[in-house]
Amino acid sequence: MSSGATHPSLESLRPAPRTAVERALDGERLTREDALALAGLSGAENPAVWAAAANVRDRGRAPLVTYSRKVFIPLTNLCRDVCTYCTFAKDEGTPAAHTMSPDEILQVAEAGRRLGCKEALFTLGDRPEARWDGYRATLKRFGHDSTHSYLRAMCEAVLDQTGLLPHPNAGVLGRRELAELREVSPSQGMMLESVSDRLCEPGGPHADAPDKRPRTRLAMLRRAGELRIPFTSGILIGIGETETERVEALLALRDLHEEYGHIQEVIVQNFRAKPDTPMAASGEPGLTELMTTCAVARLVLGPEVNIQAPPNLSADYGPLLLAGINDWGGVSPLTPDFVNPEAPWPDIDRLAELSDEAGYPLRERLTVYPEYIDGDYVDARVRPAVDALAGDDRLARTETPAPVAA
Ligand code: SF4
Repeated sequence: MSSGATHPSLESLRPAPRTAVERALDGERLTREDALALAGLSGAENPAVWAAAANVRDRGRAPLVTYSRKVFIPLTNLCRDVCTYCTFAKDEGTPAAHTMSPDEILQVAEAGRRLGCKEALFTLGDRPEARWDGYRATLKRFGHDSTHSYLRAMCEAVLDQTGLLPHPNAGVLGRRELAELREVSPSQGMMLESVSDRLCEPGGPHADAPDKRPRTRLAMLRRAGELRIPFTSGILIGIGETETERVEALLALRDLHEEYGHIQEVIVQNFRAKPDTPMAASGEPGLTELMTTCAVARLVLGPEVNIQAPPNLSADYGPLLLAGINDWGGVSPLTPDFVNPEAPWPDIDRLAELSDEAGYPLRERLTVYPEYIDGDYVDARVRPAVDALAGDDRLARTETPAPVAA
């Protein structure tokens, strides 16, 4: 008899998803057919799948939940793409458009260091120099001819001058760009978001966003794997994809991770409708839908993969721990979430309380996950800074402020 068959709550599942869940509980890798059977769960099926995902998580992960104490550095909020749900990107010449100067970046990083932050998350629009003339002039003033060149220099400066570990999230990059950033950062990231080509058709949220073509993003994730870059990716749910397409995206991430081993975490991010965007009136996924997607991610990706849901995008985030996640992502005591400015980070003490109540003590990790620190994933140039911040268990040392690597 399978261990899953003894789980009483599985009785609420229809036969095909039940078979899939039982296989996951038995420690088997889900087939594509199993995984796709987990699209379209409803009603009483949801709690059964949450419980199974939590069970699978508890087999592969230590009984704790992690977060990364970070500063958020929006290097530039200009972008060449237009995604219809985005309020991060601004048009050049509008009051909110801004490219941070080197001094601004280093001030934020140093202020974060004093507050015990260890990660500098660089987020920026995709290749803005391809669209905005004034931005090219700004780059020139800073001594650079490309966003990549400026970003790399700023990652290096933050690393060397503050000891914070840069985590660039710079959109679609070529092989050389990824490799050069690897020399100044222990991890990088880019959301896959979706594998739905439909979303790139006229009228779709990605119709005017060439960098959001699934093929383009999957190719970049592959390049990152070939270069052995610890990589953060994930899916964005609620932007018009079907539930089957969500599972397809999770399968695509699983395929890449099985081939290269570099996907250090998978984020399940819920769409939030923002005023003054074309998607302002679109429905947002509720907590049940988000929990079920996190649970399906756990069942598809297996017990060991790190699965994250951001706590600031759900009014009541505690229950997400019941659905198989093991990470809250980056949380800042200093800077807002510039991508979701309407959603403040939770207070870290409150996050710790809620995590404790659920039986998963909160622990601080570095931007690079413990399992990627030793071995050849971290470039020798970055290793001293990582070693200065990592404890014996390769989670973060928590004395503050963070020491600056020699
Ligand atoms: S690529 Fe990113 S920054 Fe640019 S418009 Fe789309 S979501 Fe916004």
